[in-house]
Amino acid sequence: MSKFPYEPWTVTENGFQHGALRENESAFALGNGFIGMRGNLEELTSTGSQTIQGNFLNGVFDSEPIVYGEGAYGYAKNHETICNVMDAKSLTLLADGEMLDLGSSRVEKHIRQLDMRAGLLKRSFVWHTAGGCILEAETERLVSLTRQELAACGLRLRCLEGSCRLTMKSGIVPAVIAEGDPNDPRNAAGKDRRLLTGDRKAEGPLLSMLQMTKNSGFTVACAVEFRTSLPFETEVLDDSVIWEAEVELSTGDEIALEKSICYTAARTGEGVLEEAVRISKEAPSLQELKSEQRVYLDTFWDNAGIEIEGDDALLQGLRFNLFHLLQSTGRDGKRNIAAKGLTGEGYEGHTFWDTEAYVLPMFLCIDPPVARKLLESRYRMLPNARARARVMGHPKGALFPWRTIDGEECSAYFPGGTAQYHIDGDIAHAALEYWRFTQDLDFMACCGAEILVETARLYRDLGFFSAEKGGKFVINCVTGPDEYNVMVNNNTYTNAVAAETMHGAAEAMALLREQCPDDYARLCTALEYSEEEAQSWLDAAEKMYYPPIRNGIYPQDDEFLNRKPWPLDSIPPENHPLLMYYHGLVIYRHMVCKQADLILAMTQYGERYTLDEKKKNFAFYDSVTTHDSSLSMATFSILASEIGEVQKAYDYFMSSARLDLDDIHRNTKDGLHMANMAGTVNGIIRGFGGMRIRDGVLCFAPVCPPQWKGYAFRIQFRGRVIQVHVGRDGAEYRLLQGEPLGVRINGEKTTLR
Ligand code: BGC
Repeated sequence: MSKFPYEPWTVTENGFQHGALRENESAFALGNGFIGMRGNLEELTSTGSQTIQGNFLNGVFDSEPIVYGEGAYGYAKNHETICNVMDAKSLTLLADGEMLDLGSSRVEKHIRQLDMRAGLLKRSFVWHTAGGCILEAETERLVSLTRQELAACGLRLRCLEGSCRLTMKSGIVPAVIAEGDPNDPRNAAGKDRRLLTGDRKAEGPLLSMLQMTKNSGFTVACAVEFRTSLPFETEVLDDSVIWEAEVELSTGDEIALEKSICYTAARTGEGVLEEAVRISKEAPSLQELKSEQRVYLDTFWDNAGIEIEGDDALLQGLRFNLFHLLQSTGRDGKRNIAAKGLTGEGYEGHTFWDTEAYVLPMFLCIDPPVARKLLESRYRMLPNARARARVMGHPKGALFPWRTIDGEECSAYFPGGTAQYHIDGDIAHAALEYWRFTQDLDFMACCGAEILVETARLYRDLGFFSAEKGGKFVINCVTGPDEYNVMVNNNTYTNAVAAETMHGAAEAMALLREQCPDDYARLCTALEYSEEEAQSWLDAAEKMYYPPIRNGIYPQDDEFLNRKPWPLDSIPPENHPLLMYYHGLVIYRHMVCKQADLILAMTQYGERYTLDEKKKNFAFYDSVTTHDSSLSMATFSILASEIGEVQKAYDYFMSSARLDLDDIHRNTKDGLHMANMAGTVNGIIRGFGGMRIRDGVLCFAPVCPPQWKGYAFRIQFRGRVIQVHVGRDGAEYRLLQGEPLGVRINGEKTTLR
């Protein structure tokens, strides 16, 4: 049973769940792709040692050198860690000197609610003060989805009975940094994450403060305007600026307070403070921001069009996932999305392949311009990726970082990090998928082709034609998506994305030669590209080696089937995830998977495998996969739908759709699992809906789990908007917008008009 009631548009905490404080702070986080605020209570509570306070700005990080016990050539040099910047959302309330504290105060009817249609976090409660006064409070918090730098908070407080002297304290204060877990590699523990304080000011109701990172050169400004009719005082302290108001309240009195909070940040630092002050002063009222937010979200929900009939729990889970993905994804072409979005400091705020393999495919269906922006933000990393390729001994091409914020490789553990060369292919695949969905020639000319050429070059240099393997093109010593099998030869998935990349790069350049000759000429010169080079990519792609099928099983890599079996039922349940309880070498010697790898290859390159092969391999990899990565189950669910294992598909979907709402991996406190969240939406569209693109044609092959009455989704494809409704007795497709489109439904050609 969930701690949250099943509601279609809201997530409600009834009462105050002391024991779930930190995971609820992640669940109630708000964001807009730039600002991220954890769902912290306004006031600190005496369970305060457990809270994880957080305010993040996407792309704003500090760096420090990675200290290796034994360093070696080419190791990543610096950590990049997302900054927990100054806080302005907190508010302390005191009644006759007694501080409101959910750990000790007498509070009734406490409700906290995330409203996903309104884009609002609301709270209400009744406080019986020690002095005998009864106060009713309501708060609202919003991070504007239409104004990147702006957030706002509101408070209404009513005296229901008695009287008291109420004090309200707020301001701009440095973040309270919570202790991390030094034994959990997924946690950002052990880094010095404090920022330096700069200028602070209080000018009437407008407070402002600057912070600087120690090493990365960022300046962050925060400006807050307090809006209330109450008299107040302000004070500038060493590391904060404080606002305070006092008022006598007696039965029937009501007061209101609003704050507009603006954050800006830049590497030059110039003008950030002035800009923050201006935006904060010009900010519309909370009421106006709420109206804008609602209009924006109406369109968002309309575009997604996701429905599940007959399962409120799953519908709530899916909407929660969509809402948080929207809130955490950078939409300006500069910022990307971190593995935990803007909801926590897990994985230090790093971006991984999660973006291209999970999040971007989802946006491709429901909001293609966001997918383009994510690719543009990768394009900005190309100079770093080129430099990294040189360090790694590749004379040409670009190697994208396994984990990063700004483009520099930050993976301190190379077997499970830098060795994941599939990252280049994931980005190239995403660029090609974007093209297949949108036919956006401008994207190809501006950045797509360049990404493809540089990643194709990397793979061409990485592999070689091996006499041992009959002259085939092999790729050795890489780590595939599955982090429990590292530095392997011929990882099937990696070889498949490498072949697609090299093929796609040659095709992209041929396309530009035909359709954008000026851009083609520019790129030929800038990239020193020749058609002979493209031919060498095509040769490698065509002769790509894949570990051959053995007894019906496609090996994940050359040696996978030769590793020591480790039956999953022999592993004590409390020893999961294995990475927390066994040395890597123990894990790597065994035939055990952390996550989908070959199964991912089978969903992405499905035309290469027969249905029987898919069934057999699904059963085998299902029996050796721990799903210790949250990225795993959604992919298994997608393939299960395709092979007709609808119950399995449903079970995997169930376990992933509410993974964070129900804290199934027990680490939601560190932030929400963005890739899994996107995987669940993909699970509806590509899994149950069976959506694929084959030879440029949009295809559907839907199934409906018997537990549901039906489900629906929308996708945008080449200027069309298509609505799909699947019921137990069949499916209905509607072209809502755009020209007629030829599609294939369960293998049959038809035209949507
Ligand atoms: C997974 C990776 C993923 C990372 C960030 C790891 O546990 O194995 O595939 O990129 O988490 O989500």
